[in-house]
Amino acid sequence: MGQYRLLVRVPKAEDDFRVTQNIDRKALLKTVKSMGQVQVQSGIFILTFMSKWKPPNATQMKNLIDAVVQILTSTTPFYEDTCEECGRSSSNVVLLEGIPRLQCSSCLDKLQQEVKSAEKHFEAAKPNYKKGIALATGAALVSAVVWGLIAYVFETFFFFAGFLIGLFVGYTLAYGTKKITGGVIGIAISLTLFAVILGEVLFVTFVLLGYGIPLGYLPEAFALYVTEYTGEFIASIVAGLIGAGYVAYYLWSRAKRQRETFDVVS
Ligand SMILES: [Zn+2]
Repeated sequence: MGQYRLLVRVPKAEDDFRVTQNIDRKALLKTVKSMGQVQVQSGIFILTFMSKWKPPNATQMKNLIDAVVQILTSTTPFYEDTCEECGRSSSNVVLLEGIPRLQCSSCLDKLQQEVKSAEKHFEAAKPNYKKGIALATGAALVSAVVWGLIAYVFETFFFFAGFLIGLFVGYTLAYGTKKITGGVIGIAISLTLFAVILGEVLFVTFVLLGYGIPLGYLPEAFALYVTEYTGEFIASIVAGLIGAGYVAYYLWSRAKRQRETFDVVS
């Protein structure tokens, strides 16, 4: 079962709602069995429909597009060969974030320059390390306490938690820094590992507290825990590393998308 969206550019109308009202839903229902929303929004006609088992095939898509074009010709005004930005005569079609529009070459130049300066501005901007590290340290501390408590109460480590910690720490860091760089990813990995190791230390702390042993014995107790349960300790670190690796991947793909948002004109 999937949801699909068909987008068609139409000239901007004074009253989008009226255009939406005039669209013949019955005619569309002949081509799609399960229809969701039909709307016109600032020059884009959007049809949302559902297909139960498999995506619509080429013939079905062609029928649907034909029906949509048929309906739109009678409900929306025609395009005149004018630039949508300044209204000067132009038949120059460009793709803006993948959406076609009529734009004269001087408006296109202007837009490209704006994009370039936005790109420069973005490249020059530094991540907000202060805010990011403050938030992510908080997230790491909370994660460590939760990790330690869960281990103490259930007497087992849920290694999957390392993965969640990585995601939580990375997300809060990126939320704070706004911009993602190699440095930000490095901090995310370090803080994730810090959270996991601190969680292990807290686990031993909780055990000592549980037996009423003074916390002065913590270093010895932790060393004993690491030598006695080396496998568990290593597994925790590995879980943290997997979490950190995942967060690096997650932040890297977000950074890529941050850059792609400027890739608007073709
Ligand atoms: Zn123009």
